[in-house]
Amino acid sequence: MNSESTVSSPRRIERLISGLPTSDGAGVKLTRVLTQDLQQRLDPFLMLDAFGSDQADDYIAGFPDHPHRGFETVTYMIAGRMRHRDSAGNEGLLENGGVQWMTAGRGVIHSELPEQEEGLMEGFQLWLNLPAAGKMQPPWYRDFKAADLPQLQLPGVNLTVIAGQSQGLAGAVQRERTEPLYLDLHMSAGSRFSQPLPASHNAFIYVYRGQVSLAGQSVPVQKMAILANDPASDGVQIEASQDSRLLLIAGRPLREPIVQYGPFVMNTKQEIYQAVTDFQSGKLVA
Ligand code: MN
Repeated sequence: MNSESTVSSPRRIERLISGLPTSDGAGVKLTRVLTQDLQQRLDPFLMLDAFGSDQADDYIAGFPDHPHRGFETVTYMIAGRMRHRDSAGNEGLLENGGVQWMTAGRGVIHSELPEQEEGLMEGFQLWLNLPAAGKMQPPWYRDFKAADLPQLQLPGVNLTVIAGQSQGLAGAVQRERTEPLYLDLHMSAGSRFSQPLPASHNAFIYVYRGQVSLAGQSVPVQKMAILANDPASDGVQIEASQDSRLLLIAGRPLREPIVQYGPFVMNTKQEIYQAVTDFQSGKLVA
């Protein structure tokens, strides 16, 4: 362990969140873990959806053509296959442990459609806000296969660094302004993991297998824990009470106004009207 990994005053849990069962796209069943009412609290993150089902009816319709403007979407596919196509000419197959990072910027129209008719489809979609100055930037897109994601085997812990830095390892994606940290942790029963983190960064974990504890408080499976921003805290310390898998997500808040209308997230209502007008007149992608 290097000194970077030492955490002497770990964060406490502020609140446990169960998420809201809902559906989106053409009827894909999912759990909205990070809902709109938590956008200020978890700034710069706007949404986290968890999907997981082995019933084809729950996912088969997928997400046909729809627009986005003003933020980034990060899709992490744990199991299953999904085809992505967008108006910038990008196409990719997202599968088994792969990540798709899409910066919508001034606008894309895309579809996300299953390429399987049976079996398990499981994964997450995270929405990361863009700073006001970056909302109208050109769209950007990258696919990372599971093997392309930086991984590290620690005692009892398998770490994947999707974004940010952990244990001296740079993640697949870095963002200067929001400094997102996005880790997937597979922990054996009894193992521990520490991650230094500035106290002002907003942070949460989502447990998708097993059960973990932070500062003596336990987080059961399928719960999100919002971590307190105690100014004296210097990081996160996680202990697995059983074999567990979880996401640890953190970022530097933008502290800018958030105005969301469906797939558009801007700073003012006027910018939202403009996004709708641009979409309706075919100019969103121009
Ligand atoms: Mn989308």
